[in-house]
Amino acid sequence: MTKITSPADLAALRAGGQILARTLQLLAEKALPGTKASFLDTLAEETLRAAGGEPAFKGYQGFPATVCISINSEVVHGIPGEKVLREGDVVGLDCGVRYKGFVTDATVTVGVGKISKAARQLIDATEQSLWEAVKIIKAGIHTGDIGHAVQVYVEERGYGVVRALVGHGVGKQVHEDPKVPNYGEPGTGTVLPAGVVIALEPMVTAGHWDVRTAADGWSVVTVDGSIAAHYEHTLVVTEEGCEIVTQL
Ligand code: MG
Ligand code: MG
Repeated sequence: MTKITSPADLAALRAGGQILARTLQLLAEKALPGTKASFLDTLAEETLRAAGGEPAFKGYQGFPATVCISINSEVVHGIPGEKVLREGDVVGLDCGVRYKGFVTDATVTVGVGKISKAARQLIDATEQSLWEAVKIIKAGIHTGDIGHAVQVYVEERGYGVVRALVGHGVGKQVHEDPKVPNYGEPGTGTVLPAGVVIALEPMVTAGHWDVRTAADGWSVVTVDGSIAAHYEHTLVVTEEGCEIVTQL
């Protein structure tokens, strides 16, 4: 668990978060029909490094890329590889940066060209579920309060909340304690103190929430083949609320 205790640490975390936010915005603009996923990955690495950051995921547990690019039924951890984006695809862009010793982690899901109304609704609901949780975050709440807020919003709309993967502490390493599930009961789990840094990341499926790891050993896909969406921000919990550091 990383707790921010000094203005200098907060400034470094914020600066890294802004580098990451600008990188993801650039990738989202370039995610067009015909774009190679490997192009986006190279662009991300160059952009992070030009700003003084380093890719946090590349080499992490052997992951081969700067960005996880997860398309349609891929939920998370997609390897860019030889994939080419197609009109109508739903594409998760998940990236981490290390800057002055601090790690931030964020994800945006974009539609490629014209996407179906159902896909747009899934993406929008996934993003909004994150904001529903943000409304209640402040020092002293439990991780279960966050999970409950996400789960209620998502399930009311008929979607599934992925169970096998969860949000997490972040700040010094890519994954730290506590686990921050996107499901759960109020008043359960870990109490969040002021200053703790977490990555809040709803992963939402159009169909059943069950997932499996694909043959490439990395990509996590829906078992029923339904499309999925993913949003993520890194935030610092404060006494009154939270500060999102990966938002432009
Ligand atoms: Mg992430
Ligand atoms: Mg994460």
